[in-house]
Amino acid sequence: MVEAFAVASGKGGTGKTTSTLALGMALAEDYDVTVIDADTGMANLLFHAGLDDADVTLHDLLVDERDAAVSDAVYERFGMSVVPCGTSLTAFEAADPGRLRDVVAELAADTDVLLLDSPAALGSKSAVLPVVLADRIVVVLQPTVPSLSDGLKVQEYAHSYGTDTAGVVFNRVRPDENVDRIAEQAGRYFGGQTLASVPESDAVRAARREGKPLLAHAPDGPAADAFREAAARLDVCD
Ligand code: ADP
Ligand code: MG
Repeated sequence: MVEAFAVASGKGGTGKTTSTLALGMALAEDYDVTVIDADTGMANLLFHAGLDDADVTLHDLLVDERDAAVSDAVYERFGMSVVPCGTSLTAFEAADPGRLRDVVAELAADTDVLLLDSPAALGSKSAVLPVVLADRIVVVLQPTVPSLSDGLKVQEYAHSYGTDTAGVVFNRVRPDENVDRIAEQAGRYFGGQTLASVPESDAVRAARREGKPLLAHAPDGPAADAFREAAARLDVCD
């Protein structure tokens, strides 16, 4: 049975795209994994996965007239099937966000785990649909109270559509931050577990510059270990 996760957060820049690819690579050790850049307005997964030159992207599947086949937008990279999204504002405006449902259904037929890199804000159909389509959300947060508050809104929205919380990834954690205190609050409010605490890491930035997921660029560092731990805690159903 396929399980779909939306990797979500209240704000941009928390590390959703980084987390999507890191969790995807970790899960790909045991499962067939498909990663979709469902952040169709601010797509940037292509830059994290060396797919800047992709000819066909999710946008081509969402714009009626383009008439592309789903398989044309799937790229086998880093042991995963990756569906990048383009960066054109014109394509975003021409896209019918509702078609994502059909694209996800078609991809789901052929994979064990779907990871939807999701937009930050709520508010529009394209922003909320990934969360609605997923079975569970992974909330990516900085270990601060404001970030926690943003994440709670995303969770509330997800729950209203029957999407459960898989847990919270605390990202960009600095050595002087008291993650335990925030994690305790997260446990109380989210009802989900803390999946991992990922340190602020030069390796993550370097991986992005190289156009590679963290687990391809620096598989042995503490940040990669934290994401592997998070993937294991997702407890994907077989
Ligand atoms: P989002 O998808 O939520 O907007 P990204 O994954 O694109 O966030 O991350 C935003 C920026 O922060 C990227 O440049 C990324 O390399 C950097 N970043 C993310 N996580 C970390 C981390 N743990 N340490 C250092 N830099 C990070
Ligand atoms: Mg992103």
